[in-house]
Order: sequence, then C-alpha cells, then structure tokens
Amino acid sequence: MARQTPTLAPGAWIPTGSDWGTHPAWLDTSSGAMRSETRFVDVLVIGAGQAGLAAAHELNRRGMRGFADGTSLAGTYQVLDAEVRPGGAWQHRWSTLTMATVNDIADLPGLSVGPHEPDDQASHVIPEYFTRYEEAFDLPIMRPVFVHSVHRDAGGYLVTTTAGTWQARAIINCTGTWSRPFIPHYPGIHSFAGLQMHTQDYRGPNQFTRKRVAVVGGGISATQHLAEIAPVAKSTAWFTRREPQWIESGGKLTSGLDVERSVRERVEKGLRPLSVVAATGLLVTASVREALAAGVFKRRPMFTRIEPDGLVQENGKLWRADSILWATGFRSELRHLAPLKLRTKYGGVMMSGTAVAGEPTLHLLGYGPTASTVGARWGARKAVRELIKVLGID
Ligand SMILES: Cc1cc2nc3c(=O)[nH]c(=O)nc-3n(C[C@H](O)[C@H](O)[C@H](O)COP(=O)(O)OP(=O)(O)OC[C@H]3O[C@@H](n4cnc5c(N)ncnc54)[C@H](O)[C@@H]3O)c2cc1C
Repeated sequence: MARQTPTLAPGAWIPTGSDWGTHPAWLDTSSGAMRSETRFVDVLVIGAGQAGLAAAHELNRRGMRGFADGTSLAGTYQVLDAEVRPGGAWQHRWSTLTMATVNDIADLPGLSVGPHEPDDQASHVIPEYFTRYEEAFDLPIMRPVFVHSVHRDAGGYLVTTTAGTWQARAIINCTGTWSRPFIPHYPGIHSFAGLQMHTQDYRGPNQFTRKRVAVVGGGISATQHLAEIAPVAKSTAWFTRREPQWIESGGKLTSGLDVERSVRERVEKGLRPLSVVAATGLLVTASVREALAAGVFKRRPMFTRIEPDGLVQENGKLWRADSILWATGFRSELRHLAPLKLRTKYGGVMMSGTAVAGEPTLHLLGYGPTASTVGARWGARKAVRELIKVLGID
C-alpha cells in the first residue's frame, strides 16, 4: 500500500530523505491487516517508550506474565507499540541532539544506560539502550502495532489495532507526544512562501545555511535549535510569548518536587498539562551560555501575522524570513482514547494520581507529572501497584 503522509498542521514539512528510515505505524493512515478473533489480557500497555518499558518491567516484577497467544491465564499483560524498532520517540530525535545536549535522561529501572560519549547521538544511544532492556527482561512487545481506538465494554476495554482486537481489563497508556506536533495558528500562516517546519521534522542546522530563520517558541528545543542554527544562518530571530526565565545551573529556582506538584495540581483539575519549561525555566548549559554571550537569545515578542516573505512584528515592521522553525511543542497523543470521552471542557483529562479520575483501570503514563524520564519511572511503580490491587491479581 502506498505510504501516505499524516495530517499535520498546515505548512508543516515532512522529511523524505534516507535518514528518515523505516517509519512508525502512526505515520500511516491505512488500517493494515486486521485479525478477526479477539485476544484477552489483563493489562494492555499501549506504547513502548520510556513509560511503556518502565510499566512492563514493573508488571514483570510483580509476577505478571507476558501474554501467550491461545491461553487464557490470569495475570497476563501485553505491550503494543507503533514503532518498527525499540526506542520510542528517541529514535526520531534530530541527529545533532547528543548525550551532552539532552536535558537529563534517567535510567529505566533495573538496568543503566551504560557508558557513552558526550558527543554520541541520543537517537542512537537510547534506542540501543531500549533494545538491550527489552531483551534483558524479555518484555512481551508486539510491533509495529498501531492502536486505532479504545472503547469501554463489559470486560473492561475493547481495543482495535492493526493486529486485531484485544480485550483488556485495564490499560496503561504510554503513547507520549512525539506524533502530535503542535503549531499555533497565526493569520497568514498559509501564505508564507518559504520553508516551515516543526521541531518534529528538524534534522540539524545544515539546511538553514545562509538563510534568514525565525525560530518560534520559548522551550528547550527552541534554544537548542537557535544555538545550532545561528552560527551557519544569515540571521536568526527568536519569537516567544513570554520573557524566558533563565536558571543558572547549580542555582535551584524550582526543585523537581515543586515542578511535579505544580503540574499535578493542573491535571487533577482537568486542565491541559503545561510544558516542563513553564514550571522550571530554561537551564543555562555550557552551549546556552556561549550562545547567550553571542547575543543569539535576543528575544522578540510574538509577531502579529505572517506575510509571504516574513513576519510582521508587534511594532509593525516586517522581519524578512526564508524559513520558520516552529519549536512550539507537542500535545499528548490520546486520539485513540477519543471514544472514552476523557477530555474536560478545559482541554485536559481529569487525573487522580496516574489514573483517570473515577476510572482506576485506566492509567496515563507520560502525561502531566509523569512526562519525563524520571516521572515515567515512579509513575509506572504507582500505576502497577494500584492496578494489581484493583484487578485483585496479587
Ligand atoms: C525534543 C524533546 C526532548 C526531550 N528531552 C528530554 C530529556 O532530555 N529528558 C527527559 O527526561 N525528557 C525529555 N523529553 C520528554 C520525553 O519525551 C520523555 O521524557 C520520554 O522520553 C517520553 O517517553 P514516553 O514513553 O512517554 O513517550 P515516547 O518515547 O514518545 O513513546 C511513546 C510510544 O508510543 C507509541 N505510540 C504512540 N501512539 C500509539 C498508538 N496509537 N498505538 C501504539 N503505539 C503508539 C509511539 O510510537 C512510541 O513508541 C523530551 C521531549 C522532547 C519532545
């Protein structure tokens, strides 16, 4: 079947170069082959990134068994993942993101990432680490399997996938954010004559050589893109909604616990989770300090509209641009859960810990306070402990 491009925001550009490699099932709009029989399992984990692997490890540790086709044993679980290989979103991160420039990656429980050089690409190191992890703990992961939808039914949940239908008593959803790039709408966005792309499609600074590049967004991705692009570009401009809050490394404006609390309080009210940067500020790393000294991070307020050849600034002046790089973040990938009608009027999901409020058999990991490599780890422990109790498996 011919490859189809996903539905992204208008203007987003999809790479087709050889570095893109084989593509995950979430890039296909076709439904693929369907098996007709339904398979039964106690817990279905959807997604095998950091959160899904941590959940699978915890289920294993608690004595649950990987699903064996053709049996109906109690205490079973299965992981379904849309990727073609291990690595979750990390395998798609841009090649210039190295182990020195990532924020900080926590180990998965039970096996450390091991030695690596600061210049090693995160998109190689982490998928290799996940591969070793899956093998070491013999985790039952099927891929590429894309989950289309999850419905409630008498036995718990009915889950339709590209590999048939599953019935599960409980779900741990770990589908991350990478497949849902967010680009805000600005008047004139469709009229821009140059190249527009989102962080999801960024492959490194080379394609911006001698270009006038506008980078939009106030997060870590934006600062990393700017620090890389400014030395090769003709000029850069940085547009953000708010003044950036810089934090000196070593100085501690907000502790991990404060961040966790402020994000948790939002999702327990059903509000959309905020980005981590909104709660922590931007860390001044060595590369950021260099770029700060070079004047790269001179921030401009958001433009008011987009013209074919540039961005109209707050003061009415046009900033001529060849390219716009939208580092405007991601939304949670929860589209397959739409039949469950979880969204509140505030745009989020009302949470109670890692579970959906009032639904103790449905946990969202990598959502809200667990949307980090550290959060995935404690979230998995909490979710599995609660599920084992609710399902009466221990
Ligand atoms: C650019 C960037 C840099 C980051 N850097 C850091 C960092 O340095 N440190 C840190 O702690 N955090 C960082 N984060 C946050 C980071 O993404 C998380 O910490 C963590 O890696 C996410 O793990 P996850 O398992 O929730 O999601 P993912 O790694 O995205 O895994 C989700 C999995 O679910 C699969 N999936 C999605 N939809 C479906 C479906 N319908 N059916 C089946 N499978 C599906 C995906 O294919 C994928 O394999 C970063 C985020 C971004 C965007």
